[in-house]
Order: sequence, then structure tokens, then C-alpha cells
Amino acid sequence: MDNCIFCKLANHEIPTNVVYEDDKVFCFYDMEPQAPVHVLLIPKKHIACLDDLKAEDVEIISHLMLKVKEIAEKLGLQEGYRVVSNNGDLAGQTVKHLHFHILGKREMKWPPG
Ligand code: 5GP
Ligand code: ZN
Repeated sequence: MDNCIFCKLANHEIPTNVVYEDDKVFCFYDMEPQAPVHVLLIPKKHIACLDDLKAEDVEIISHLMLKVKEIAEKLGLQEGYRVVSNNGDLAGQTVKHLHFHILGKREMKWPPG
């Protein structure tokens, strides 16, 4: 999608630090890390947020969720990690391309802020 920063990163129009990539998903380091390890996992297809997921996206999203544990293992997060997807303005979503934060290597608090 034009003017979507995450589409541009996934299409390699803008260089970034890639963690994992295949035909459906793209994972890269967050530019403002909130933990010692902080990466973003996105579908390559432009989907704005969880609310915009459609039944036809089931293959992409199930593939993406299965990649979480592989990426966590690759990043050495065996002691635990947190997966976050902010959906909408009240939740603090700033980039309108569906993404899952994977955060690790520090103790996480609950409830989240
Ligand atoms: P949100 O607030 O929408 O849940 O998360 C967006 C995340 O994307 C933020 O953590 C922010 O630091 C990250 N981010 C925004 N623009 C870029 C970018 O151009 N490159 C990278 N690597 N991360 C970005
Ligand atoms: Zn996009």
C-alpha cells in the first residue's frame, strides 16, 4: 500500500534490520526498542489492524502466529517473551499496518500500561 512505512520496509524499498522473512511475513527490529530484544512481525499483505482481518486471511495469520515461537527461539528468548498487538488509537496503535511486537530479555509487568 502506498505511503505505508511497514509495506515499504517489507518490500525492501527502505532498508531495515531483518530478523526473518518469507513469502507471507516479515520480521525486523523496532527502531525504538522497549526491551533488550524488541522486534516486529508483520504480514506482507497490507492489513491495517486486527479489526480488518478477514476469513480469507486465515492462512497468513496462522502462519504468522506459528512463526512467533520460531523467531523467539532464534532470538534466544527461551526464558519468556511478550507478544503485543495494539489495535486502534485507544490502544496506542501508531502504524496502521498490522504488527505483533515480540519483546524479551527483561522482566515484564502486568497489567501493561
Ligand atoms: P504501535 O505503536 O503502532 O503498536 O507500534 C509501532 C512500532 O513501530 C513502534 O514501536 C515504533 O518504534 C516502530 N516503528 C515505526 N516506524 C518504524 C520504522 O520506520 N522502522 C522501524 N524499524 N520501526 C518503526
Ligand atoms: Zn502496509
